[in-house]
Amino acid sequence: MGNGFSYEISHRDEKSLARVGTIATPHGQIQTPAFIPVGTKATVKSVLPESMRDLGAQALLANAYHLYLQPGHDVLDEAGGLAKFMNWDGPTITDSGGFQVLSLGVGFKKVLAMDAKTFRSDEVIAGNKERLAHVDDEGVTFKSHLDGSMHRFTPEISMQVQHQIGADIIFAFDECTTLHNTRRYQEVAIQRTYNWGLRCLDEHKRLTDVRIDKPYQALFGVIQGAQYEDLRKKAATDFAAMTSSDISYDGFGIGGALDKDSLGTIVKWVNEILPENKPKHLLGIGAPEDLFVGVENGIDTFDCVLASRIARTSAVYTMEGRFNLSNAAYKRDFNPIDDECDCYTCTHYTRAYLHHVFRGKEIIAATLATIHNERYIVRLVDQMRQALLDGNFWDMKADFLGRYKHKSGQSND
Ligand SMILES: [Zn+2]
Repeated sequence: MGNGFSYEISHRDEKSLARVGTIATPHGQIQTPAFIPVGTKATVKSVLPESMRDLGAQALLANAYHLYLQPGHDVLDEAGGLAKFMNWDGPTITDSGGFQVLSLGVGFKKVLAMDAKTFRSDEVIAGNKERLAHVDDEGVTFKSHLDGSMHRFTPEISMQVQHQIGADIIFAFDECTTLHNTRRYQEVAIQRTYNWGLRCLDEHKRLTDVRIDKPYQALFGVIQGAQYEDLRKKAATDFAAMTSSDISYDGFGIGGALDKDSLGTIVKWVNEILPENKPKHLLGIGAPEDLFVGVENGIDTFDCVLASRIARTSAVYTMEGRFNLSNAAYKRDFNPIDDECDCYTCTHYTRAYLHHVFRGKEIIAATLATIHNERYIVRLVDQMRQALLDGNFWDMKADFLGRYKHKSGQSND
């Protein structure tokens, strides 16, 4: 690696794949494990970047598909890159657009459904005539969810878009499948993702050379393979060894269909194969109990829209579990959301006030609840990192899960 990007491990857990480390980027460092909040369209909805910094976010993740459609990657390039454009003084990440192209386009109802067993497969994917995306070996043709215009992403275009957006960490273009695709389809998709992986390396090298005056961008490969052990292990083996244009991947993302029950198993299959000295990102996972599973199986960074998305519906996390602020029970509750939370919302506002602004559909409701939920998740992973350093990660996990599930009954979304 070079040009300002590196990853160093400072501590390893003896009983698991968990580790503590530092990712360095041209825009600053990320102490890992870390939760990376999502600002899909170069904004964490309803929250200022300054507030994200104050609540402990070390980096933000935006989405290449959305920024390509609006305002256009060329606008971000002209602005000096994603971080400068959105007034974020720190590292940024973009995902490749593969997931959005396919999930929005094909009409998956719940691609990363954590409760995939609870609905039938024919409910998952929209009928062919409703599909907005078609995959071929060269790329994906899709219809914009904004205005219906036709577009095409290929590995090369994804790299070009992500280079112009200018995040510190970018992802290879991959084909994201569901748990419900056939085994045969998964085999085809994984071969396609492999071929696209080679093309991403070539185009990334070319663009890095052409845009030598820009800060270095690290490229992460994406490991797919759905629920199949042999496919996941093959993808990990292939991407770990993959070299083209004399470069290899700077890190790896684990993506695609991940059933809640097998999340840890799948991450372990992959991370036991991927090189230890490169960072691993778990794409789109962010429920509290799943973050523990990720960390103990060697994940360094996470991103997920869940914390901010549920906040806008008045659902908030506490150490005891989740609850909804708009429930009548909180009308005269003058306690903070969580009296153990140190966020701006909890130190300045009561449940009764939040109940009032949610009921009144005031814009500030989303802001205050999002600040709390993002702080809660960021801090939870920070606490895991500290517990690893202190040698009490397993006690911390047992304490957390004991309390979290005890009162909430269930903690799944
Ligand atoms: Zn709080």
